[in-house]
Amino acid sequence: MKAVAFDYARPRTVGGAIRLLSEKPDAKILAGGQTLGPMLNLRLAQPSLLVDITRIAELAEVEEAPDSVTLGATITHAAVEDGRVPDPARGLLQLVANGIAYRAVRTRGTIGGSLAHADPSADWLSCFTALEATVVIAGPFGRRYVPIMEFMRGALDTGLEHDELLVAIKVPKLSTRARYGYHKICRKTGEFAEAIGVAVDDPGLGIVRLVAGSTQGRPIVVDGIERLEAAADCIEAKLLAAGLGDDAYELSIHVAAVKRAIAGALAA
Ligand SMILES: Cc1cc2nc3c(=O)[nH]c(=O)nc-3n(C[C@H](O)[C@H](O)[C@H](O)COP(=O)(O)OP(=O)(O)OC[C@H]3O[C@@H](n4cnc5c(N)ncnc54)[C@H](O)[C@@H]3O)c2cc1C
Repeated sequence: MKAVAFDYARPRTVGGAIRLLSEKPDAKILAGGQTLGPMLNLRLAQPSLLVDITRIAELAEVEEAPDSVTLGATITHAAVEDGRVPDPARGLLQLVANGIAYRAVRTRGTIGGSLAHADPSADWLSCFTALEATVVIAGPFGRRYVPIMEFMRGALDTGLEHDELLVAIKVPKLSTRARYGYHKICRKTGEFAEAIGVAVDDPGLGIVRLVAGSTQGRPIVVDGIERLEAAADCIEAKLLAAGLGDDAYELSIHVAAVKRAIAGALAA
């Protein structure tokens, strides 16, 4: 099957893209095309206009502040993997990028496209949830800043309106004392995850964050953890309490992913 006929526009500014999106409510944003391409060809998406955002310079920019790094939406997974942009999480972003799909997908796929699509098994969703990142959204009425946990409402469901653009992700910087672990369970290297575990322990910032990702919906933040050393013992009970108990296999791979992420952080 092939895509339905559509118009194509390549604006040079965020404002220009928003104008186009406002004029055509069924328009679709095109970033890396790694998800949208197949969706068009399968006619799961039938837009009358594609708004290609890859030539908007602002979306490829990086803004570094003393306590955060803001990464533009069209920065590719490969750019993160290669260290072409600063890593506020002291190597965690590079590690995560390296495990996304395979290199051809990583050279085209973007951070913004991954977050906007909101596939629960997407690596960036779990990673940025553990880092408590903030999504920067531009629309006809200006910009808004949304914590990533509020941005994703559920599987393939975000708070983005049809005339809004995800412009960047603001990621807090970890301190030099931070340690982390990231574990992805999938059948073959480079596939979407069946389960993701993320552990971030930063005494400098006073945070211990554990996340179970690739669930049926939003990543689960395991709350009430004060010490990483004591965390592994209570993971199963916490994930059960968070609603992961319906399927024994699902529960067991998510427990394993989080425990392995903890072990990775403790070994760092
Ligand atoms: C074979 C294969 C394997 C993959 N494996 C993994 C994996 O292991 N882990 C993983 O995390 N991902 C994986 N992916 C997904 C991939 O990494 C991309 O992140 C994903 O396809 C979306 O990014 P994109 O830039 O290609 O977006 P596009 O395909 O261009 O767009 C995706 C959706 O987001 C919307 N969109 C794009 N950018 C914006 C924006 N800035 N603002 C608002 N809406 C926007 C589009 O309109 C569209 O609806 C895989 C993809 C493929 C094809």
